[in-house]
Amino acid sequence: MRLTVLGSGTNMHPKRAAAGYLVETDQLLLFDFGPRTLMNLIKAGVDRHRLRHLFLTHHHTDHFADFFTFFFDALFHAKFVAPRPALTIYGPRGTRRLFGALLKAMPGFAAAPFRVTVTELTDRTIRIGRTRVTAGTVVHSPRLHCQGYRVEHGGVALAYSGDAEYCEGLIQLCRGADVAVLDCSFPVQRPGPNHMTARDCGRAAREAGVKRLLLSHFYPVAERYDVKAQAGREFGGRITLAKDRMRIEITRPSRASLRFQ
Ligand SMILES: [Zn+2]
Ligand SMILES: [Zn+2]
Repeated sequence: MRLTVLGSGTNMHPKRAAAGYLVETDQLLLFDFGPRTLMNLIKAGVDRHRLRHLFLTHHHTDHFADFFTFFFDALFHAKFVAPRPALTIYGPRGTRRLFGALLKAMPGFAAAPFRVTVTELTDRTIRIGRTRVTAGTVVHSPRLHCQGYRVEHGGVALAYSGDAEYCEGLIQLCRGADVAVLDCSFPVQRPGPNHMTARDCGRAAREAGVKRLLLSHFYPVAERYDVKAQAGREFGGRITLAKDRMRIEITRPSRASLRFQ
């Protein structure tokens, strides 16, 4: 499994794109599609016309605004350049209503020359090829249903919080994951509502027993503090600060290392 961070920042950030993560297994899976992530997808050398599965955590625009640019381009490409495969958009409750309205409202969007399916995927697991994707409800905004995702393939698991507060749903989703990508919006000194601080991320990683913690979704204020050290006071495993276009290979420990443990 390979993770490519397309956006490690928030809506407005001087150096980072907003939320977006590409996960490659036997499938190409995109989790969130925030502003400026489409450009990072292209810079990462990924053919956007191969994207068939888009998973949204919630409906704040820092998690899906680049869908518009992507979809407008996909329409043009499918009409004038080459056919593209069907696209499925998975999301929390309200996704069918929202995308039904958006696809109707935007010029040309309803007449896409490829199949578009919108699926609400809540608190359950689906299988795509040999990959399992689980959506799990997390606490974020009182007015929105929000969920994180867990991807399992080839004996490894990756969990992504989306935007989340520390909550039981998040711990469940991350349980034993090889990598957990968590919403580290704020440093301990400047906590904010609806998101975690670095300390919350460390605590969640420890309680869930994850192997590696990737801190991401930084507000600009998080850059001014040592959030890695703050998470490290709670979590003794490996901690990495996400960067745009960072790639992480997630592999099973080799048989040899298991044998001699
Ligand atoms: Zn949000
Ligand atoms: Zn966000």
